[in-house]
Amino acid sequence: MDDCTRLHPICSSNIPKSQPTRIIDVGLEATVQNLCLTALKDDRAQYVALSHCWGDTSTILTTTKDTIEQRRRNIPFRELPRTFQDAVQITRALGLRYLWIDSLCIIQDDKDDWQFESGKMADIYLGSCLTIAATASYDSTGGFFFNRWTSQPGGIKSNVETFEYHRTFHGADVTIYTRQGLDSGHQRISGYASTSTNTAPLLQRAWAYQERILAPRMLHVHMEEMFWECKSCTICECGYLSWEGKHLDRNKWSPIRDTLNLKGRIALAVDEATPVEDVHTMWLDIVEEYSILEITKESDRLPALSGLAKFLSQKVQSIYLAGLWESNLAIGLLWHRCSILYSSCFRDKLSNVPSWSWASIVRTHQSVDEKNQLNHITYDEVRGGIIQDPRLKVMNAACKVTGTSPFGEVSGGTVCIEGALIIAKYTCSLHLARPQVLYGTEASEVHIDIWEPGEPAEVLNGEMVFCLLFGMSGYNFAGHALILKAVGVNVYRRVGYLNLDSKLRWFDNVIPFVVNII
Ligand SMILES: [Zn+2]
Ligand SMILES: [Zn+2]
Repeated sequence: MDDCTRLHPICSSNIPKSQPTRIIDVGLEATVQNLCLTALKDDRAQYVALSHCWGDTSTILTTTKDTIEQRRRNIPFRELPRTFQDAVQITRALGLRYLWIDSLCIIQDDKDDWQFESGKMADIYLGSCLTIAATASYDSTGGFFFNRWTSQPGGIKSNVETFEYHRTFHGADVTIYTRQGLDSGHQRISGYASTSTNTAPLLQRAWAYQERILAPRMLHVHMEEMFWECKSCTICECGYLSWEGKHLDRNKWSPIRDTLNLKGRIALAVDEATPVEDVHTMWLDIVEEYSILEITKESDRLPALSGLAKFLSQKVQSIYLAGLWESNLAIGLLWHRCSILYSSCFRDKLSNVPSWSWASIVRTHQSVDEKNQLNHITYDEVRGGIIQDPRLKVMNAACKVTGTSPFGEVSGGTVCIEGALIIAKYTCSLHLARPQVLYGTEASEVHIDIWEPGEPAEVLNGEMVFCLLFGMSGYNFAGHALILKAVGVNVYRRVGYLNLDSKLRWFDNVIPFVVNII
């Protein structure tokens, strides 16, 4: 941490001015037993933030309207769950006095306070001098200090055992201490959204995603080892990762996928010299990763990404529409579900997220297993950009947000587009590998947005659907279109995505038509 603050200028840049309203004063002495909620008096005061899984929300220690006064007077150390206690110890050991924990620093049953503070969440993590992540803990009882894990023959994980031997060596009694080798956890750094089901629960949580990206410095405590991640370097305890600032050289930086340090990419993204197209491409990666993650309340899907969207909006300078940027709509709308055939997902009937937003899709199985990974949102076909069809024109796009933040929850939205539109027949049956649309005598496979066994499909076998052409890929001339279903006079809902291979001629001589997609 000392190296980072002294030697990495980029890690100390872009610190927001707003600070958390409340913070926990942990005292500086290890023996202080009474903590309290307080306000930061000095706007340069440094604080540590905690990133953690809540687990069972009914048992986690929180601040409410009833307990706020009491918490201001005293929070007894012994009453804190283990993760919080360990976080207090780490804060003190770093010589710092203030700690931010969401469940205690936000009044949980005060809707206004929650909305106001959660709107500042991005700034709170951005402004922390260190965020400590209880990566291996499912809830607030897991803590940071635990027995490490190692792998046993057969791939079984167990706690590291220690051994003690007493020997006589040249007439002197000696004690030899040994332990099993530590396992490594650094492989999980490569994807931001981890897919390790039981080893790193925090990495699967949607809320923790932007915390991880926005915090300038993070200490991840995995079951096997710790790793440090800042905007300039990623280092793990075992020494395998000791990667320093490779991508921070502007000339070498590119918004490719799987770049190790997304923190560094985000830091550079808002840099003046970065082309905004690179940020748009990065956003597609972010959506892909984020769509895999678990969330308790699906209505939080957009709010839990709002801090990151707000942060990038300073660069993108465009209206944010339910997880898409207005200035990149022609690509942003072309997501599809990367599914193994007929894996289950649906649109929440209670949610009013427009059908054209990726955030309208809910995966049925919330756990991130291998099968489900294939059921995420992808921009694979259009990441490299498209040659827009000359008839395509985004006329207008708007969303209604439910709260005060333009990046938060939405209740409806319309995209009005003019483009080449054809009517085709949707067919799906068990003998087909994939659903198709038929146009004349030709068929093309489609990616249907939802598939939920036992529930009525959005589009039925034999139904007529509309295909709206967006453009083609420059490298293989494959066409990209959305499949729409009419739900009113000139009003449509998105039901799928169509990759047209070589059948672009379907749209030859088609006169453009204006559609409103909701
Ligand atoms: Zn650094
Ligand atoms: Zn390692």
